[in-house]
Amino acid sequence: MGTFKAVVIEKGEGGQRVALKDFDEADMMDGDVTVRVTHSTLNYKDGLALTGKAPVVRRWPMIPGIDFAGVVEASSHPDWKPGDAVVLNGWGTGETHLGAYAEKSRVKGDWLVALPASLTPEQAMAIGTAGYTAMLAMLALERHGLTPQSGPALVTGAAGGVGSVAVSLLARAGWHVVASTGRAAEEAEYLRGLGAAEIIDRAELSAPGKPLGKERWAAAIDAVGATTLANALAMTRYGGAVAACGLAGGMDLPTSVAPFILRGVALYGIESVMAPLPLRREAWARLARDLDPAALSAMTTTVPLAEVIARGPEILAGRTRGRVVVTIA
Ligand code: NDP
Repeated sequence: MGTFKAVVIEKGEGGQRVALKDFDEADMMDGDVTVRVTHSTLNYKDGLALTGKAPVVRRWPMIPGIDFAGVVEASSHPDWKPGDAVVLNGWGTGETHLGAYAEKSRVKGDWLVALPASLTPEQAMAIGTAGYTAMLAMLALERHGLTPQSGPALVTGAAGGVGSVAVSLLARAGWHVVASTGRAAEEAEYLRGLGAAEIIDRAELSAPGKPLGKERWAAAIDAVGATTLANALAMTRYGGAVAACGLAGGMDLPTSVAPFILRGVALYGIESVMAPLPLRREAWARLARDLDPAALSAMTTTVPLAEVIARGPEILAGRTRGRVVVTIA
């Protein structure tokens, strides 16, 4: 048995320490598939794990990283054989199971999805958990029966990872996208490039508002939570729907029942970590089919494994544009 390079979080007396290290293969966790990881990403939750700002990590030492793309090296699972290209999101990797910021990962074969044929591993991680979550949100809005003809679609946290993919997907599908951002001065051009039709300052949504406001959109994908989500609901048209997937602005939800009982608005919860396999496969197939590769490339920056540690505080501070791919091999 040898070692492999990994970002490792250890817990000591003075808090947690994070460093790029040689990790002993003998210390890998149980699983029926071993994957040579080639790419991972930086998601908001990875920022929380890397900085220790929220109790994401629940086992030490931990290799953070909640998603990867790679190639199967060894497998005793009937669905996977050496050489298969795979993608993994969630299931507790980087939280309770040793995660993705490593040259190797041993996981359950039941957690893996085949890399869609039209995507490179790097593109799959440019999408990453953030982009796959944006698609889960879009699927929820579509299942509600909403179409671009229903009215505009709001995206909050638009310049972030979930937001950038959501703007791009909705615009390409023909929606009139209203992008809410705290960085309008710097990112308006970027967001218009992704297809946003209108840019609004997030301050319009972050102050406490009325139980019902002017009906401004038929659909919304919200990565922010708190007052922003409450205002998104209050301004949703009769019969519309909001897909809530994030808490970048806070965990609370200071709303009233008014949007639900007076406008028939629906609120969908979006959860990516334990989402069942058929839904994952559907989301990845749709991403492979619908996401514009040029837009994906425009929203992506790439960093080597060692640099991801310094990027943790950046994403929590809301200073990351779009998506960050982590190159491992
Ligand atoms: P990013 O940091 O890339 O995006 C979040 C964006 O939210 C920021 O870019 C910023 O956009 C905005 N924002 C940040 N801080 C605040 C604030 N205090 N008030 C209002 N807006 C703010 O993160 P991700 O895209 O990776 O994740 C977004 C959210 O979705 C996170 O909360 C994450 O935990 C959640 N998530 C949930 C998943 C699930 O399974 N439900 C899966 C994946 C992510 P701007 O500058 O444009 O305003």
